[in-house]
Amino acid sequence: MSNRVPKEWQEEVSQVLFDKVTIQKRIGELGKQLSADYQSRKPVLLGVLTGSFVFLADLIRAMTCDLEIRFMRAISYKGTESTGNVTIEGLEFLNIESRDVILVEDIVDTGLTLKWICDKLEELKPKSLKICTFLSKKTNKRRPDVPQIDYVGFECEDQFVVGYGFDCDQRLRQLDFVGIYNTNR
Ligand code: 5GP
Ligand code: MG
Ligand code: MG
Repeated sequence: MSNRVPKEWQEEVSQVLFDKVTIQKRIGELGKQLSADYQSRKPVLLGVLTGSFVFLADLIRAMTCDLEIRFMRAISYKGTESTGNVTIEGLEFLNIESRDVILVEDIVDTGLTLKWICDKLEELKPKSLKICTFLSKKTNKRRPDVPQIDYVGFECEDQFVVGYGFDCDQRLRQLDFVGIYNTNR
């Protein structure tokens, strides 16, 4: 376990939440589980841009079953606050009718984004739709109508996280660990 924030990021990141080794170990487990569940079904892994791209890239390399990849885009945050408004782009050419779809999300916080996406995806008539999220936030703001989450990397406390795909105003996505953003600076 390496819990020290690298020097370059100490001003912006107050604490390491999940380090590189911990993340990769968990993704190995998820990949194994998904490969077993989707053997011979050629699932479509549908990544939600931008946050999930790092997770998706590692997840598919931990999977051994045949699969396809697609992306769509959901925008719902400005800085560290949810705007309550979700814009979804890229549904036109998804081609997921009658396919086994695994939606790959970075994080479920209130669940608002997830609900919007799932409602839209159901209209495209996939054969099945399961949800895989890297993080699930323990929050009392979680909406009651959020779809069931089938695969979760880690649960985290209600703090604003950065790194491993998570941004703060488009920065810090490149960190190979997940950290807590330093809001006091
Ligand atoms: P939700 O709709 O579930 O409230 O969250 C929507 C989106 O907000 C997530 O998919 C993610 O992109 C972003 N988000 C939520 N919590 C965090 C966080 O702690 N850090 C970052 N960087 N993004 C977050
Ligand atoms: Mg997201
Ligand atoms: Mg964001």
